[in-house]
Parts: sequence; C-alpha cells; structure tokens
Amino acid sequence: MAKDKLKFNSRTIHGGQEPDKAYGSVMPPVYLTSTYAQSKPGAHLGYEYSRSHNPTRTALEQSLASIESGNHALAFASGMAAIDAVIKLLSPGDEVISTNDLYGGTYRIFTKVFAHYGVKFHFVPMGDIDEVKKHINNNTKLLWVETPTNPLMQVIDIKAMSILAKENQLMLAVDNTFASPYLQRPLELGADIVMHSATKYLGGHSDVVLGALVVHDSELANRLAFIQNASGAVPGPMDAFLVLRGIKTLHVRMQRHCENGRIVAAFLKGHPQIQKVYWPGFSDHPNHEVAKTQMDDFGGMISFVHKDSSLEKAVSIVSSLNVFTLAESLGGVESLAGHPASMTHASIPKEEREKTGVTDGLIRLSVGIEDSEDLIADLAQALG
Ligand SMILES: *Cc1c(COP(=O)(O)O)cnc(C)c1O
Repeated sequence: MAKDKLKFNSRTIHGGQEPDKAYGSVMPPVYLTSTYAQSKPGAHLGYEYSRSHNPTRTALEQSLASIESGNHALAFASGMAAIDAVIKLLSPGDEVISTNDLYGGTYRIFTKVFAHYGVKFHFVPMGDIDEVKKHINNNTKLLWVETPTNPLMQVIDIKAMSILAKENQLMLAVDNTFASPYLQRPLELGADIVMHSATKYLGGHSDVVLGALVVHDSELANRLAFIQNASGAVPGPMDAFLVLRGIKTLHVRMQRHCENGRIVAAFLKGHPQIQKVYWPGFSDHPNHEVAKTQMDDFGGMISFVHKDSSLEKAVSIVSSLNVFTLAESLGGVESLAGHPASMTHASIPKEEREKTGVTDGLIRLSVGIEDSEDLIADLAQALG
C-alpha cells in the first residue's frame, strides 16, 4: 500500500485510509449497526456481526497498524481489555517478567486477576538487564515493558529487551501509551506486541476510552483476534471514530506536548522549592542516552517532588492549581495534574509503591498544549 510508505506525519492522516466506497465520504462513516444483511447464508460483504468486525473499527485498526509500523492492529474497549487479551495468550504455570514501575491498573489485573489463574508475575527494575535475566526460566513466556514508566519516567531499552526475548524465545510486549508512536515505535525496535491505552495521546481529547494492540506477525494477530472476538471487549463504532479523528492530529499535538514539556521541566528543575524532577529529556536523567536513541523527543509527562515531601504538601499543591486540572489520566490537550499515591497508584500497596519511588510527595503532570506561559504561571502560584 503506497500510503504506508508515507512519512509518519502523513500516515497519522492517511495511513490505511481510503474514502468510503459507498459515497466517497472522506471520514469513515460511523457504522452504528450490530449486524449485516446476507444474500444467502454465509454470503456477505465481509461483515457479519459487530463484535467480530465493524467497518469503523476496521478503519481505526488500519490507521493504528500504519502509525505503529505493524501489519495488524486490534481495537479493544479499553487499554485494560487490550492487556487482558495479551495475558489470555498464556496458560497456567506460565511466567511473565514486568517492570516494577508499572501502571496501577496493569499491576492490579496481573496480581489480582491473572495470578489466580496460575500465571506468575515478576516485577523487576528492567533498567538492569541482569535483573531480568535472573528471573528467566523454562516457564517464562512474556516480557512486559512500559517505557517511559509511570510515574517515574524510567526509560527501558526496548532493543536490549527484544534481543533478550529472542535469545530466550519469549514474547516482548511494550505498553507504548506514554510515548505514543510519534515518539517511539517498539515494533521497529524488535517488540512483538505494542499495546496502547488510546484513551490517552491517541484519542488526545479526554473524550473516549479505548485500547489497542499492534503486531507484525499474522499468526499472533489471529490468536489475538480470536480472543478479541471470544471475550468480546470491543469498542463501539462511535469510540473508534473518535480515536481515528484524534490520531489525525497526533503529530501536531505531540510536537506541542514536547515543547511545553521541555519548558515546564526546565521551570521545575530551576525552582528553589523543588527537590527532584523526573523527565527523560534531562541530560542527567539516568536513562537519558537510551531515551535519546529510542525516542524522537521526550514528551510532556513529568513528575516532581517538593522539598517538603509530605502527603499534605503534595495534596495542597495539586489542589491549588487552576489551569492544570486535578484528574486521573493523561495525554489530552488539557494539562492535568495527579497525585499517584492516592490516585492512579492507589491500587498498589504502600510498601510496594514506596520501594519503587512512588512516594506520598510525588506529583505527576501531563503537560497539555495550552500556552506555556499560562502553565508556568499556574505552577508558580501553586508552589507559592
Ligand atoms: C491508562 C493506561 C492504561 C489502561 O488503559 P485504559 O484505557 O484506562 O483501560 C494502561 N497503561 C498505561 C500506561 C496507561 O496510562
């Protein structure tokens, strides 16, 4: 397909897309239908029932495959439903090695749902490849990577993980939600599965919940499509349409997220009341070199700790912001602030949390695409 030879900033708009065959509509129609007429049993136009396939979802899946440099994409009702489908590839007794600084919901489904089905999970600091190697045994099937990690912005070397995975015949899955394909395309670095919460940067407007998986391998795609249809956690056509529309401006939004992220990170770093700022774009970030190689820029996700690292101080800062909205989630056009310990990471036990650095004083920002001067002024007043 010629359109897949286009550059990234054109594939967000044209990748996998053709004007609709019926009337030439430039955007795919929202096919609000559960079923499709057959002229005789089994004779149909490629669509039978909307849990299995829906043309609006197909358009989104083709766009996702194109921007992640994959051959196949599958859309799910949420990011968690996409993760759920990946783990359902496994059997009791199988083992997974995952980052220890992990999205709270991922940690929860691993430990509170799939552990009961006999799948064993190891949470290790994946920046240290020897730590990962130590946990590989004959039952290991999957490496689960999130990079940059949430909320501590560690960067894990995807290429190094893919080499390790290949040496040991493991699958490598990368949660690419934080970076988005604008910044990093894990399939190009050797990953087998890319997972997205499209709720975040791909949708980009905080108006839809949706998940996705993208893969190269057709057999793996078939196995995942079987689970997608069998379990049925699919997005509706309206949600597919919203994410497709979001993707069309991904590159312009991300460019501004990165610009504003750079400005906000520098402001925080230079602020006398701030103890620590986590952002992979700093040259003294422990994984800066890896970030520079595998990412095209550093994004708008930033975490920081005030010199007064108490719970009360963090709560007072996030509560006094006016332009930043205190809310869960990230990746929308509007700037958000969050307090991981009591919000996104509340499902991780305090002990586990603190071991990995998600302390009570940590504040996470999703820097939006507003005027950076307004963002800085807002932070300045909240920090006092
Ligand atoms: C939000 C998020 C998820 C879960 O996605 P949902 O769409 O909320 O189900 C998974 N991983 C990361 C990194 C996320 O930020």
